[in-house]
Amino acid sequence: MDQPDNPDRRSDLHKIADHAADYLESLPGRHVGGTTTAPDMERPFPETGTPADVVIDELVRDIDDGLVASAGPRHFGFVIGGATHGSLMADWLTSAWDQNAQVYLTSPAAAAAETIAARWLLELLGLPTDASVGFVTGCQMANFTALGCGRDAVLRVSGWEVERQGLFGAPQVTVLMSECGHATVRSSLSMLGFGEGQICEIASDQEGRIDLEVLRTEIESRSGTPLIVSLQAGNVNTGAFESVGDVADILKEQNAWIHLDGAFGLWAAASPKLATRLDGVDRADSWATDAHKWLNVPYDSGIVVIKDPAQHRRFKSARCAYTGEESDQRRDGSSWVPENSRRARGLVLYAAIRELGRSGIREIVERCCGLAQRVASEVEKLPSGQVVNDVVLNQVLVRFSPPDVDDLDAFHAEVAERIQSDGKCWVGTTEWKGQTVLRVSVCNWQTTEEDIDVLIGVMKDQL
Ligand SMILES: *Cc1c(COP(=O)(O)O)cnc(C)c1O
Repeated sequence: MDQPDNPDRRSDLHKIADHAADYLESLPGRHVGGTTTAPDMERPFPETGTPADVVIDELVRDIDDGLVASAGPRHFGFVIGGATHGSLMADWLTSAWDQNAQVYLTSPAAAAAETIAARWLLELLGLPTDASVGFVTGCQMANFTALGCGRDAVLRVSGWEVERQGLFGAPQVTVLMSECGHATVRSSLSMLGFGEGQICEIASDQEGRIDLEVLRTEIESRSGTPLIVSLQAGNVNTGAFESVGDVADILKEQNAWIHLDGAFGLWAAASPKLATRLDGVDRADSWATDAHKWLNVPYDSGIVVIKDPAQHRRFKSARCAYTGEESDQRRDGSSWVPENSRRARGLVLYAAIRELGRSGIREIVERCCGLAQRVASEVEKLPSGQVVNDVVLNQVLVRFSPPDVDDLDAFHAEVAERIQSDGKCWVGTTEWKGQTVLRVSVCNWQTTEEDIDVLIGVMKDQL
């Protein structure tokens, strides 16, 4: 067991810093996907302890081929950011400080970091400055919290108080969303008590945006009933934006809540050039986003924003008797999120936003979008290469149609596998409008033009 006065502690921590630096330096040259599906870490249940430095040395050795270099510049799968220098350092210290960001009393420092980071984020993202902010694990929990607030708010307007009356017997609430809404919106809704019968999935256009005319008809047919409309800024495949402004115009005086899932798309607000895509963004009632994607902070870091702080506060009203009084000057972080005891991730956000500033965040977002354009124009130059989405952000969908291939869907799955086992880049597939395509997401602060050229070379080689 480690002793409180362990003389090795300092040297062990320095060693860890070396392990971390070794790993980070290896990123540009590493096989991007893991090279094994089963890293050799298996051991019998440890009846007795092992010195921590031995555990760590062996872990570093055993885990290596199971690591995915998603922190590096050539992982183009999912939508995955890396970790900037400052955010990583703040994240390490957050573990060392081991603050509980539950309430003000458990860490005034964590509370202050959240208060300030919240203010900065609202300003950066162009959201109402008096909205309330919660710091959660990721966009899944941000969507959950926001949709929960929406559910309770529209029921409240219908004369039903969830806090007092619960959900059983409540009036029916319908959720309208595009068929292309993110899976985490659906799972949030199911955790919040919505069944398939209460979710109205609406056809989408070529880019995955909700069809506004169908939406209008569905809204009119439900006139007078409580509604939630869940929209997306940054479709997870195409990067397309649904317009909050248009939907707000359709809803007019209807008892409705507009939620915007902007896991990565909301960061377009950091760029004056791209912010025009977020038309009417401040007319939504709630927003969800991820900092571990485009802000490039380490996992886990999601953000939920609610326009009406009173509604936000009601979503979770029970308090432990020993937690002290909450006030404007004494933020209780757990009042705004589903969790109770929690990591002080506000400290990392505070450091990351200071490190980059508005100009640095803007630069990362614009560079990734510029690189996505480069992917698109280079793909179009490859034989039978075609970009099937309108590249409005950082997402590119690619389809090849070599004349000698019959089953193009299977072909794309094989090409992705070949790219992944080649290891210079990581690219996955997705289903888009009934076809399997390669999906390229540019979201890492370190990705450069040379990395894109490597990607294009790999595609060429593996076709
Ligand atoms: C990534 C993503 C989510 C889920 O976010 P997590 O951080 O994985 O919880 C939700 N919506 C969209 C559009 C996303 O891209």
